[in-house]
This record gives sequence, structure tokens and C-alpha cells, in this order.
Amino acid sequence: MYAGLTALKKYYPKAHVIIGIENNKKHAIEVMRKYTDDVDKCDVCELPASYPQGGEKVLIYNTTGRIVPEGKLPFDVGCIVLNATTLSFIGKYLLTGRPLTTKCVTIDGSAVKEPKNVIAYIGTPVRELVELAGGLVCEPSKVLYGGPMMGLSMPDMDQPVLKNTNALLFFDEKDARLPEPSACIHCGRCLDACPLKLMPTELEHACEKRDVAMLQKLKVNLCMECGSCSFVCPAKRNLVESHKLAKLILREAGVK
Ligand code: SF4
Ligand code: SF4
Repeated sequence: MYAGLTALKKYYPKAHVIIGIENNKKHAIEVMRKYTDDVDKCDVCELPASYPQGGEKVLIYNTTGRIVPEGKLPFDVGCIVLNATTLSFIGKYLLTGRPLTTKCVTIDGSAVKEPKNVIAYIGTPVRELVELAGGLVCEPSKVLYGGPMMGLSMPDMDQPVLKNTNALLFFDEKDARLPEPSACIHCGRCLDACPLKLMPTELEHACEKRDVAMLQKLKVNLCMECGSCSFVCPAKRNLVESHKLAKLILREAGVK
């Protein structure tokens, strides 16, 4: 990662590098401060240990105070966000010329015998990879590409590891079952949980009515689908699915 950082400074000498690390990782903060002490315009920023701290817009706001407007990219506010894996890869690539051929993948979930992190070649079928974690306890009822909050369901275990695969989750029947949603009790927890200060309940209503104007007004396209609103909802409402659907409705209506 250090090699990636020095390369970054070489090609962007005027860039101010901010390394954001959650404040419950004291050792990582200490090590990074030690290694970057002599790097010009490079700071380690301690961030609250709360999900979704790694979301681009959240990270940019918490480290620079800048807000990425709807429909814009980090670059539009003068920022580039790189995760630690990418920075580390850039360093290795510039030293060796070797392209990205492997990924560190977390294998976890109730259907896995020995959850662990493995280094896997991109393209390896998921079915083969799970053998490295001791195999399966039972046939999984659901397999996710990604973490428990934002992961996408996989159609079958013959799918390959992709260059953006960070985690594979294998759930048994009990963990795969979605809870039955009940009526909203207007507790407001979803509003408090949203890192982008959106209004998940209002968005859900507008989506049900396919109200394009209201969905635009409520800025559904800002939603980063982090799943926090669904996670905290005591009524188990599937809010994030509704926001995904709302974005499709806007796209169908020609709204960008
Ligand atoms: S998924 Fe929910 S909590 Fe996350 S950004 Fe979207 S509305 Fe906010
Ligand atoms: S958290 Fe769930 S129950 Fe509470 S206001 Fe939001 S949608 Fe309604």
C-alpha cells in the first residue's frame, strides 16, 4: 500500500492525500501515521467506526466536508477515492507490471464449515473456492456476492470470482429466509439511520405510487443502497429494495 501511495504522490504531487481509518483500528492508525510521517501533504484521518463509513459520498464528506451533488461524481468535487486494496494493487502493478489476477475474498456464512479469507484467482468458480474454507455444512439456500448489507444474490455456485468480489456469503435455510414485513409504525429509525439524510418511508410511498416527480424531489438517485434503513426497521420493511425499484422507475421515465 505504501508503494501505491508514493506512486500516487509522484504522479499527483499537488494532491492532498487523506487516509481515512475507523477509530476502532488504533494499530492501523498508528502504523499508517508512522509510514506517512515524511510524506508531504498526507494525513491520517480518524473516522467514527460506523457503517457505511466506506461509502464514497460519506467518506468524502467526513474527510473533506465536501458534498457530492446528485448525479455528480467525486471527481466533480475534486476528489478521487481509492480503497486500500486498489492502492496496494497500483503499487504492485507499477513495480512488477503484473495485472490484477487475484483477489482477497472473505468466505463466510452459516453454511460454511471454516469461514476465512483466501487469495483467489479471478475467474475461479465459487464452488471450488468454498472448498478452501472446509466445504459446506449444508447446501446453501442463498449465496451472496458481497457483504450482508449490500451483497447481491448469485444464481448458482458456478459463477466466477470477479475483480470486484470482496466477499462470498453462503447462508443456510434459516439465515436465507427473509422476515415477513409488517406495517410501518412511524418510529423514524430509518430516517436516523440514513447516512445521506434521505427519507426512506416517503421514498417507499412514492415508489408504490410510481410518483416520478416525488421520487425526484426526494432525491432517490442519491441513495447508495447501503441497506441501513432496512436493517434498523423494526417492521422489517424492505426499504432498500423499494429504493432500487424507484431508481428503475426514474430510468424508465427518462430521468437521469
Ligand atoms: S439504503 Fe436507505 S439508508 Fe442507505 S442511503 Fe439509501 S435510503 Fe439511505
Ligand atoms: S424504521 Fe420501519 S417502522 Fe420505523 S419509520 Fe422507518 S419504515 Fe416505518
